[in-house]
Amino acid sequence: MILGKYSFGVGDRFCHQGKAQLAALIKAKEQGIDITPVWNKSHREHTIIGTKPADTRREADDAVSACGWIEPYFVDADHIGLKNVDDFIESSDFFTLDVADFIGEPANESDVNSFIEKHKKYIGSLAIPGIDKDFNISKGQAKAIAKKYLLAVKQAGKIYRHIESTKGVGNFITEVSMDETNQPQTPVEMFFILAAIADEGIAAATIAPKFTGRFNKGVDYVGDVNGFAREFEQDIAVIKFAVREFGLDEDLKLSVHSGSDKFSIYGPMKEALKKFNAGLHLKTAGTTWLEELIGLAMAGGEGLDIAKEAYAKALARIDELCGPYSTVIDIDKKKLPEPKKIAGWDGEQFASALRHNQSCNDYNPNIRQLLHVAYKVAAEMGTRYLDAMQKYEDIVAQNVTENIYERHIKPIFVA
Ligand SMILES: [Zn+2]
Repeated sequence: MILGKYSFGVGDRFCHQGKAQLAALIKAKEQGIDITPVWNKSHREHTIIGTKPADTRREADDAVSACGWIEPYFVDADHIGLKNVDDFIESSDFFTLDVADFIGEPANESDVNSFIEKHKKYIGSLAIPGIDKDFNISKGQAKAIAKKYLLAVKQAGKIYRHIESTKGVGNFITEVSMDETNQPQTPVEMFFILAAIADEGIAAATIAPKFTGRFNKGVDYVGDVNGFAREFEQDIAVIKFAVREFGLDEDLKLSVHSGSDKFSIYGPMKEALKKFNAGLHLKTAGTTWLEELIGLAMAGGEGLDIAKEAYAKALARIDELCGPYSTVIDIDKKKLPEPKKIAGWDGEQFASALRHNQSCNDYNPNIRQLLHVAYKVAAEMGTRYLDAMQKYEDIVAQNVTENIYERHIKPIFVA
């Protein structure tokens, strides 16, 4: 199975926007850009909403047949580990092996020593094509990296072989993810992580590191854009080099998680992809649910009522809803309006507050982040919410497609 040079993770909380999401990739295709859609959903999301992996598969298959999409597409078991992978095996053909919890668990001494012995030629001065300055890697540094990451990669190997024993060799796409951790990985760490991935025999198609800076949910990148640009370029150069050195999948590419809405780094990312002729997997998830709310607000009537009610309920339960996401949101509570103020808003005002348009004075990133993590509130509305999705399908779909194509695909892959 081949993922393709460019791929786009279109998660969808409620499994209703498959067609609208795919429409954005069809638009890209009309511009001559092939991007593979990947419907990703994590165990955490399924648990909060009460959906099953089979629902995501059905959504993807239905969207693909309704739109007449004949190119590849995948269903991603996002952020899975040995504990929950079995629920996803049948429905998924893309697996994001999350081993972040194992980072820093010290690997045993003899594993570390044999890893260092095997890769000792990289100790000392290391020149990587595309990176101006040579790296100087001491044995102590290499050992420390092995100690920190080897066990995590071995864990990825266990999950990988478990999936392979059921799905069969070559019948699924593998991503190794290390993004849900506190410390970003440096390009040198990435290099040795890739050596370990090759040693484990994991046929990885994508790797998701943690990058420098904050990737808050639903809002722009926060951090040093130039520093990110340098790191992103170096990661790409390291991957290209590691592919040749270790015989990894020649299409191996970076995966950027929480990749929606990071408008200020899309330019540098696009430059780097062009410079190295590199591929990219951009993973998004929660944005589609926000576009549903924007569409409902714009529809007015019952749609606007639901949007306002979702906000009021979210505000009342802010601590509970933000808890699981506390490290990836920054909400200034003082800037969250009272529900009675919002009650007087028309649909356009609500939509403008929520829509990620930084040049609009009414845009409120605090409202946006709160609602981003508040999808549980809509899940609890049950059929009332889902019926509204049907009733206002057109205006919701229009917002979903426009958001993915205009604000995400276009700045990175097209113009
Ligand atoms: Zn992630």
